Amino acid sequence: MRPTTRARAFVAAILSVSCAPPASFAQQASVRPRVHVIATGGTISNMGNDPRRTGAELVAGIPGLDQVAEVTSEQFSNVASGAVTQEMLRDLATKIRGLQKEANPPAGVIVTHGTDTMEETAFFLDLTVGGCAPVILTGAMRQANWAGADGPANLLNSVRLAASPDARGRGAMLLMNDEVFLAREVTKSNTTRLNAFSAPEAGPAGVTDPDGIFFRAPPPATCAPPLVDIDRVESFARVDIVYSYISADSALVDALVDAGARGLVVAGVGRGGTTPSQGRALRRAVDRGVIVVVSNRTGGGRVGRPTNPEILRDLPVGAGATIGAGDLNPQKARMLLSLALASGLKPADIATLITSVQ
Ligand code: GLU
Repeated sequence: MRPTTRARAFVAAILSVSCAPPASFAQQASVRPRVHVIATGGTISNMGNDPRRTGAELVAGIPGLDQVAEVTSEQFSNVASGAVTQEMLRDLATKIRGLQKEANPPAGVIVTHGTDTMEETAFFLDLTVGGCAPVILTGAMRQANWAGADGPANLLNSVRLAASPDARGRGAMLLMNDEVFLAREVTKSNTTRLNAFSAPEAGPAGVTDPDGIFFRAPPPATCAPPLVDIDRVESFARVDIVYSYISADSALVDALVDAGARGLVVAGVGRGGTTPSQGRALRRAVDRGVIVVVSNRTGGGRVGRPTNPEILRDLPVGAGATIGAGDLNPQKARMLLSLALASGLKPADIATLITSVQ
């Protein structure tokens, strides 16, 4: 069984998730597929000093879009992606789950979003939506009123992807610059260029070429339920990321625990290391019941078992635990840990969930 299949089976078992697939694509394909766009803001809607473009305006601005699919849209928010909150993401996931349960669900959903935190929203939706209909995150690196704005092409390609039978069952994906990435694998790796996204361990899952959409691997045989049941998520506990570097001391970790952090993700050096002082502070945090997940700051590779001796010693004795993040980067590991805590999972189940995603 592939790791993601095993992970979904595990979570379905412990969370009792059920996920009835929507009406078959074959039924919908007899008419033009419907694709629903949920606009949240970001550079794709940014017009400089003029009012931001709405989702309806973005859709209306692309000639010929209605030949690809029937496109409906709604405005969820219109903010830079740094202003997106986890509470908004919970509402967004609930909304998309609701769309899936409609009598005539859309073939796919597109979320237009600022690029800065797009990978976090993509991963959140990948963990919480499930089902057959793909969720496509897209946006733009160049503002809507700049020469060579990439938003219209990204949105057009997202509609092609969302309407494609080959996209079904692949979960949440991110489409930018003609490349399709799986939400779990993608990260923003450049501040300004059109090819700002990459998947360091896997590469793009597919491409949107003029003559078609091509994936490296076939779609899964069945559509998986979500790993996390969003209906169980009420409030989010404090979960922070702590960066490690030469001479990093204990001050930040101790302050975060005093501020109420229930989870900490370490952006460790190399294979998840920290300074001795920071490691001792993390060990104190574990003893106070904080879940510590160890990722790394390199931008690639895995953290299997944390290597730091201060964290590893006598582990885990209290309610806390220390868990390697595998190849999840710090912001992805944080999102998963945050959802796990918000779902009320116990430390042992959190550890199993996080390792099962790797
Ligand atoms: N790149 C920014 C973001 O991620 C753009 C902000 C904006 O112009 O709305 O949201």
